[in-house]
Amino acid sequence: MKKLITLLFLFLFVSCGSSEDEIPETNPTEFTFIYNIHNSLPSDWTDEFYIIMKNLEQLIPIAPSNHFYELPIYAWNSSVDKPYKDKIGDASGASISGNGASVNGKYMVLEIPKEEFQFKQFHRYSVIDHEYFHVYQMSLSKNFFDRNIELKWMSEGGAATFESLYIQQYYSYNYFKNDQNRVDKAAIDTPNIFETYDASKSQDSNYSSSVFMFLALAKELQKTGINENEAFKKVLKDYWLTNPTNQNWKTKFNEVFTMSVDEFYLSLKGYTNDINTVLPSEGLKLENVF
Ligand SMILES: [Zn+2]
Repeated sequence: MKKLITLLFLFLFVSCGSSEDEIPETNPTEFTFIYNIHNSLPSDWTDEFYIIMKNLEQLIPIAPSNHFYELPIYAWNSSVDKPYKDKIGDASGASISGNGASVNGKYMVLEIPKEEFQFKQFHRYSVIDHEYFHVYQMSLSKNFFDRNIELKWMSEGGAATFESLYIQQYYSYNYFKNDQNRVDKAAIDTPNIFETYDASKSQDSNYSSSVFMFLALAKELQKTGINENEAFKKVLKDYWLTNPTNQNWKTKFNEVFTMSVDEFYLSLKGYTNDINTVLPSEGLKLENVF
């Protein structure tokens, strides 16, 4: 019995200790990534990973807030079986996921398919840009952080466009043309289905259709007289700063883009479902956008 009481006391002590650690500091001054980069990854990938992270932190730094100032990153090669199981359970693939285990309730998963090393696919690098961009979106919009907005073609279209712009700029490879070219005709006929994941899961291979709509929006904005850099700033950054929700996203859309969602969807009828008709210029530089 005495032993049990001691154990109970110890447990209480330990659990108090850990909950104290979880009290968020106020006014954090910088955003911290915590790296868990597994040794199953090829060393040239790991080197490139840190270069990409450094570039991204310069291009689009993540502003810390009281609810979001730290993010663990778990990266590994799919050739090994979930080496961070004790921290993130069965999480796999690539995403920003959440459980109670991390300070801000979220972590980044980067399970890189082994084939991507074998075939030297740019996706092994672009996925870093893609997931980082979701972190950026979360830092701009608390509602996005809290998952109060889905709007898939804007959120995934934005992240997938950003990754392509990065690959185009840093590796001189057109990822739009080569890897995001399977645009479904539904992007023109029924664009509203791309507002949710469920309604469009079989029409959005590698987010090609969402990217197409996102790039078409940048084209339509340029028709209103703003230049390409300004148009991309509006779609990639300014829109998220309005902190849209599932309820008010159409009003916010109208405010930032000075056109209604219906008008934009109608304008898509003037395009064909071909990524080549909406490509941004190859000389576009991300530092001029943000
Ligand atoms: Zn994504």
